[in-house]
Amino acid sequence: MTLSFEQARACVLREVSAGRGNLPTEKVASLEAAGRVLAEEITADRDYPPFPRSARDGFAVRAADVPGELQVIGEVRAGEVFRGSVGPKRAVEIMTGAPLPEGADAVAMLEHTERSGDRVKIARALKPGENFNAQGTEAKQGSVVLSPGRRLGFAEIALLAMVGRECVSAYRRPRVAILPTGDEIVEAGHQPESFQIRNSNAWSMSVQVARAGGIPQILPIARDNYESTRGLVEQGLEHDLLLLSGGVSAGKYDIVERVLADVGAKFFFDRVLLQPGQPLVFGTAGGKFFFGLPGNPASTMVTFEVFARAAVELLAGANEAPLPLLQAKLSKEVRHKMGLTRFLPARVSADGSTVAPEPWQGSGDVYSLARANAFLVVEPDRESWAAGDMIRVLLK
Ligand code: AMP
Ligand code: MG
Repeated sequence: MTLSFEQARACVLREVSAGRGNLPTEKVASLEAAGRVLAEEITADRDYPPFPRSARDGFAVRAADVPGELQVIGEVRAGEVFRGSVGPKRAVEIMTGAPLPEGADAVAMLEHTERSGDRVKIARALKPGENFNAQGTEAKQGSVVLSPGRRLGFAEIALLAMVGRECVSAYRRPRVAILPTGDEIVEAGHQPESFQIRNSNAWSMSVQVARAGGIPQILPIARDNYESTRGLVEQGLEHDLLLLSGGVSAGKYDIVERVLADVGAKFFFDRVLLQPGQPLVFGTAGGKFFFGLPGNPASTMVTFEVFARAAVELLAGANEAPLPLLQAKLSKEVRHKMGLTRFLPARVSADGSTVAPEPWQGSGDVYSLARANAFLVVEPDRESWAAGDMIRVLLK
């Protein structure tokens, strides 16, 4: 079955979300949990901020007393509490991060004050609540601050530290089998004959799988014959997800689909209106999902990013797997033959404002993808974009 890019993506998200079952979990140290997906609800152990916290260096006052001249009755710094109360016409010198003393309802910024001895002149008016963060305004004690399915990055892990969670329950990382195919493929460490190609796809996929939260397991190269491919496909299906590269075109020796059919596969699609990467197979066999990605390196990398990555993220427990898309202004005209969604190697300028297609020689051009820092998303139903037009960009 042939699908449009949108249909194929919706199919992957739908099938993997519905078919992934109850994912196993394990306890992990929060500091080691970057890229993992949370499997439990995290609540605030106390109010945040836990006390009314000064946002400035200055003087804690009653807003009604300023502008005016006040008497300074003491000082409070971060890590201390002022034992006393700020009465009318009184002020307490306060540092950023210190708790607001009782009686005060605002902080005058140091820059707007003039001190002499135990007197301070405050020239500006203040509203109650100014320059401090009231207790519980960021999060109330007991409120949910992180939910299951959330991927943990630096800010989420800071939040775990903040609420005192040294370890958390996370979903297990899915084991993803990577199965390269092709009689012409040799391992990267080998000296190829003139007609042979080094196995770059296993490495790109391995890095992509790890980035998506999976554990890559590279299998030996399947040769373009039934026995070799079948044995390795069966081995691959013992993992949580199987990714094949190559062998899914219409050629005489492209036998991946036949082997998959013989092991009982159900195919959701076997062609997508996409470039690079038209022949692209997605299905299930023996309760496991698989992708047959086209073998051309650019096709393998792009189809992984726009399809398989979402599957790995969902199998890793994420509750959503959005594409990192943004809009940028084209610095050069782009035209194409309508009908296919194209993901073309591109460079977003250093200031992020413009994007230009990166020269490339087609689906085999790994060097172009290495120079690119993004892909232009060229929509199938529009023929051309002029320089200056906004266009969608997928971050690499
Ligand atoms: P295929 O999809 O098997 O027809 O392969 C398409 C093209 O991609 C051919 O030129 C292959 O040599 C190349 N190719 C296939 N697998 C790999 C791989 N693992 N690493 C690098 N290139 C590959
Ligand atoms: Mg091949």
